[in-house]
Amino acid sequence: MDRPFKADVQARGGGARPPESGFAGSPALPSFIETRGVSKFFSGVRVLTDVSLSFGSGEVHGLIGENGAGKSTLIKILSGLYRPEEGTLLVKGEPVVIRSPSHAAELGVGVIHQEFDLIPQMTAAQNMYLGREPAGRFGVVDFAALYADTRRLLEEVRLSVEPTALVRTLSVEQKQLLAIAKALSWDAGLIIMDEPTAALNGAEIDRLLDIVRRLREGGRSVIFISHHMEEVLGISDRVTVLRDGRVIATRPSSEISESEAVRMMTGKERIQKRLRSGIEKEKTKSSELPVMSVKNFSHPKHFHDVSFSLRKGEIVGIVGLEGQGQRQILRALYGDMRASGEVRIDGVPAALKSPADALRRGVVFVPEERKEEGLCLRLDIEQNLTLSTLKERSAAGVLKFGRAAREDVRRSMSDVKLSTDDPSRMAYSLSGGNQQKVVIAKCLACKPKVLLFSEPTRGIDVGAKEDIYLLIRAFADGGSGIVVVSGDISELLLVCDRILVVHAGRITEEFEAENADREHIMRAMWGLGTEEAKEAL
Ligand code: ADP
Ligand code: MG
Repeated sequence: MDRPFKADVQARGGGARPPESGFAGSPALPSFIETRGVSKFFSGVRVLTDVSLSFGSGEVHGLIGENGAGKSTLIKILSGLYRPEEGTLLVKGEPVVIRSPSHAAELGVGVIHQEFDLIPQMTAAQNMYLGREPAGRFGVVDFAALYADTRRLLEEVRLSVEPTALVRTLSVEQKQLLAIAKALSWDAGLIIMDEPTAALNGAEIDRLLDIVRRLREGGRSVIFISHHMEEVLGISDRVTVLRDGRVIATRPSSEISESEAVRMMTGKERIQKRLRSGIEKEKTKSSELPVMSVKNFSHPKHFHDVSFSLRKGEIVGIVGLEGQGQRQILRALYGDMRASGEVRIDGVPAALKSPADALRRGVVFVPEERKEEGLCLRLDIEQNLTLSTLKERSAAGVLKFGRAAREDVRRSMSDVKLSTDDPSRMAYSLSGGNQQKVVIAKCLACKPKVLLFSEPTRGIDVGAKEDIYLLIRAFADGGSGIVVVSGDISELLLVCDRILVVHAGRITEEFEAENADREHIMRAMWGLGTEEAKEAL
């Protein structure tokens, strides 16, 4: 692991970097790879324009941008899959033409693709050295050396599996670590990670970020792509924002806020204004009967004495640390879990014995696990959208498909701003944002009185997030009452009228979103008073 600049990097430690002086477009550390004036066209359409970036040895460089901004195209250029029509690439200061992925590998560029490029039927060690096994005398594979090397590299990424373990028996996290170890096995100076945390849970993400820091300490260059702004800004030394194939800015991560980054990515500030104007409209309405009221709602294990009411047109957020009972409250409200206490819908007591029962009373749940609960991935958009209205259309026991139904489908698709207008597109082929929009369109078709959202934008890119916020606001403007459970405080501050904090199964505080202060909410989430909080923070 004797890489140049190691001493320099370690002396600085693995934590946040001091702000660099001078031009933010060049790293404080010597660059491992650099693009100068790179442009890329696909059948005459320009998708990258004049991209000049440098990625330092010992630097974690975040790359952010909406879908279609050109991130993957740039990565494919660095990894030898595409050649740019204009501009040059430099590796350690030398101009190079990267001819192929294997040439990129020789130059020290390692890419951890989302599919990892591993062969499931082979062992960890075989995958690491595929096609270039360390040879002993007479050209025979030297297994002792192969296993020893493999062990050393697996240790480096803290992956505790045997070199002889079959890849198909590994978890997603383990496969990802193996892919990183593989890149280390040919001593990659640059490791590119495209959405590496998308399929990982919280603890796994922490472990991965730890590995990223160690790679940096070892003097490697890392390009980190993720839709999670907090994550990117937290791990990167510098971050580059791409929009429409252009570099909008490269900044030290410590000098850019999440909202600023989002603004640069989308180039729109309208969203906030539009959402706010919705809230104003809602305020001018007189205090109508609550569409839903919940009183002394309790579950022996998960939550206690929960009371709140929800007016028509109102969006109420529920926030808490993981495992405080907020998800179970939502489940009980759509009849998937029994609880004591009273729920009234439009003033009428409603027992909500099952999800079907809740649906009949106009309570609709939009789950966070779109792929498991909300959508049939192997059906197309039209089939997904017509499933929820099946009953209406089978009035006389005969299903009515055809023109009218198809018109409805097209209208729903454009109502939720799906990026495709082809109803025969299969659900699995859509992006996360579009899948969520199909789920929302399904719910719209049920004409709900109350909509319960769980993590409405988890894993969705910024542009689609904004569309979804506007859709939620539009539901509210249409007279539905909405409850959003989310761990993302910024999201709740943006879309909600009121925010309830749940701690240890109880609603401990309530905030008007407009006057709420983020830090205040955090403290309440931790169950801390002001003084204790100051010590803890
Ligand atoms: P990102 O990874 O930021 O979402 P991409 O690099 O995948 O963006 O895409 C950038 C633009 O280039 C998009 O408009 C996309 O449609 C287009 N594009 C990407 N790959 C191809 C291709 N092979 N042929 C034609 N257009 C492409
Ligand atoms: Mg991409």
